Amino acid sequence: MRKIEHIGIAVKELAVSNPVFAKILNTEPYKSESVASEGVNTSFFQVGENKIELLEATNPESPIAKFIEKKGEGIHHIAFDVEDIILEMQRLEKEGFVLLNKEPKNGADNKLVCFLHPKHTNGVLIELCQEKAG
Ligand code: ZN
Repeated sequence: MRKIEHIGIAVKELAVSNPVFAKILNTEPYKSESVASEGVNTSFFQVGENKIELLEATNPESPIAKFIEKKGEGIHHIAFDVEDIILEMQRLEKEGFVLLNKEPKNGADNKLVCFLHPKHTNGVLIELCQEKAG
C-alpha cells in the first residue's frame, strides 16, 4: 500500500453534490465517468495528491443505492494505491481477508480495482487500486 488514492463518498445526486464539494475543495471535478458494471456515475476531485470520488447510483440494484438505503449518504470506501494489485490481493487473502472480486476489475479513473469485504475490516470497505499502464 503506497498511499490513500481516494476516498469514495456515496451521494444521492451528483448534480447536487458536485457543487457542494466544488465549494468545499475550491476546485471543479476534473473528471466524470460512468461505470456501467457497478451501476454508478462518478466524479473526481483532486485534493493535493489524493482524490475525492463522488458516487451516484444509476439504478436501484447498484451497490451505492443499497448503501444509501441502509446508511444514508456519506463515506463509502477508502481506496489505497498499490503497485501490484495481484500481489496485494494474494497477500491479503493469505492474511484471511475476503476479496469481493477474485480477479482485478476495471474501475473508474483508469484503474484496476479489488474490494475487501468490510466484515473483516472493521466495517470499512477497502478498495485496492492500481493505475493501468498506458
Ligand atoms: Zn473508489
